[in-house]
Amino acid sequence: MDTLTAQLVVIGSGPGGYAAAFRAADLGMSVVLIERYDTLGGVCLNVGCIPSKALLHVAEVINDADDASDFGVRLGKTKVDIPQVLAHKSATVKKLTAGLDGLAKRRKVQRLQGEARFVDAHTLTVCGETTAEVRFEQCIVACGSRSVKLGFLPDDPRIVTSTGALDLPVTQGKMLVIGGGVIGCEMATVYQALGMQVDVVEMSDQIMPGADTDIIKPCQDLMQKRGVSFHTNTTVCSVTAHKKHLAVGFDKAIAGSQEHTYDLILQAVGRVPNTQDLGLDLAGIACCDRGFIQVNSGTLATNKDHIFAIGDIIGHPMLAHKATAQGRLVAELCSGKKVRYDVQAIPSVAYTDPEVAWVGMTEQMCQQQQIAYKKGVFPWAANARALCYKRSEGLTKLLSCKESGRILGAAVVGRNAGDLIAELGFALEMGAHVEDVALTVHAHPTLAETVGLAAEVCEGTVTDL
Ligand code: FAD
Repeated sequence: MDTLTAQLVVIGSGPGGYAAAFRAADLGMSVVLIERYDTLGGVCLNVGCIPSKALLHVAEVINDADDASDFGVRLGKTKVDIPQVLAHKSATVKKLTAGLDGLAKRRKVQRLQGEARFVDAHTLTVCGETTAEVRFEQCIVACGSRSVKLGFLPDDPRIVTSTGALDLPVTQGKMLVIGGGVIGCEMATVYQALGMQVDVVEMSDQIMPGADTDIIKPCQDLMQKRGVSFHTNTTVCSVTAHKKHLAVGFDKAIAGSQEHTYDLILQAVGRVPNTQDLGLDLAGIACCDRGFIQVNSGTLATNKDHIFAIGDIIGHPMLAHKATAQGRLVAELCSGKKVRYDVQAIPSVAYTDPEVAWVGMTEQMCQQQQIAYKKGVFPWAANARALCYKRSEGLTKLLSCKESGRILGAAVVGRNAGDLIAELGFALEMGAHVEDVALTVHAHPTLAETVGLAAEVCEGTVTDL
């Protein structure tokens, strides 16, 4: 077995790992990047953010085509060519992963393909395409997460996790989505647009737990209008695979019956960290009881000062942009820069149609923490651009501290909410007051005007309502 030495080893090439490796190389470090698969990019590029958004774009086009007659444009019945949809998805992924190959090469990041495992606090073994022992000075663990699989579900190709669902194995008939979180709702959007009848069941009392209910409602209403059925406070109790269909039993009646049959089931009930086969105990790295690696909140160092952990493997929020921000920060720390992880705002976005986005505190959080807040909600029914699109279902909401006027949080539901939330994330990060946003002149006619107008509602100065 070859023995290599490295100043810095990064395990995992997702948005956390590759960002860390590239930034460290740019700062002059010798970097080894270990990834078990032959493509870089992790879950995000290969089986997460990017392929799902490629499919969601197709869903948006279908929905827009269906709605076009509202504007006097008659396109006829939409016909979807599934192989071409899949080709669009794969080509998008390939372009981006190939781009990463080039970026790694240009920076002289040494890539090893194989499964990394700690032997002690300064040594790893790699088994796979490459077999090697790597001795390192510093290490960044960026091994990400994987889908939770429900133990009672039978092994059947018609029962998939998000990874399987991205291959569109079935596109006709009935689909059950178990779990009404962001991933479940995004997949429901895709499959409904492709023509399936979709039921979403969620154990808790709302879909997209974590966001405020008033922000979710317009999205849920429109998805429901298009044909997705949502069932909250509902649990799947049994699934039996039959030749022609999957029979599912619920803890309560949905649409009049406790049993229904489906052609496809997506389990989207959460993700767990990839810590189990890493040999963390041999390196003496501590995890919390749910398996996530414990880190210092300012430095992201584990209990071993020279080993850091970032991204999904350290817990929520499990989002690509969080992993990237942490990866860059830790690379700078490893190279000797005096920096700290001190992020105020990590936006969450569900790329459903309409999109739902939120950042900072929600009303639920303010109430739980007994923080006195002011709320400004601007309905898109009063926004000219939304009316041009015939998409007036949206809302833009700002929460500010009653005492100081500082922005505490914000949320948007509506077309392009995921882009609109960026301004509010910036405002939060800068410690802006709601007045700063209200006095910012927004271009007319744009959806972004709703951000300034929600701030005016908060301030009591609005004239557009
Ligand atoms: P990952 O991306 O999980 O990468 C970890 C890498 O480590 C993997 O490539 C893995 O193969 C490798 N690895 C693991 N163990 C080892 C080992 N022992 N040796 C070598 N290599 C190893 N987030 C968003 O922000 N926006 C979205 O729109 C979004 N959409 C999503 C859609 C879906 C369907 C899914 C599943 C996730 C989505 N996410 C989204 C979440 C996002 O993908 C993750 O938060 C992000 O990928 C986490 O990055 P990471 O760097 O921590 O790890």
